[in-house]
Amino acid sequence: MGMTHLEFLYGARIYGCKHCNAHFATIESMVSKAFQGQHGRAYLFGGVVNVREGDPNERQMTTGVHIVRDIFCVKCDEQVGWKYDRAYEVSQRYKEGKFILEREMIKTVE
Ligand SMILES: [Zn+2]
Repeated sequence: MGMTHLEFLYGARIYGCKHCNAHFATIESMVSKAFQGQHGRAYLFGGVVNVREGDPNERQMTTGVHIVRDIFCVKCDEQVGWKYDRAYEVSQRYKEGKFILEREMIKTVE
């Protein structure tokens, strides 16, 4: 059992865990704000840190079938969004390898 090593981000705006303040992503890595999560609005990011990825599973979404993994804060283990492993629709392929963070689960941190 070891201590969780947390990465710290630097940027104009940092999004982090609402529960424990762990840093997740910078505004520079935000791809879109126009996503829908399980708890309302969600953001798409090109990269996030300090998350643990769950097992892949197939999910039917309004934009088609995707292979996704739920992602969890490494510090407090809250589920904060998901990662797109694969999209079957060609028009949705840009999401592959990117991450959704639910707005309800994050906040701006310093
Ligand atoms: Zn957390």
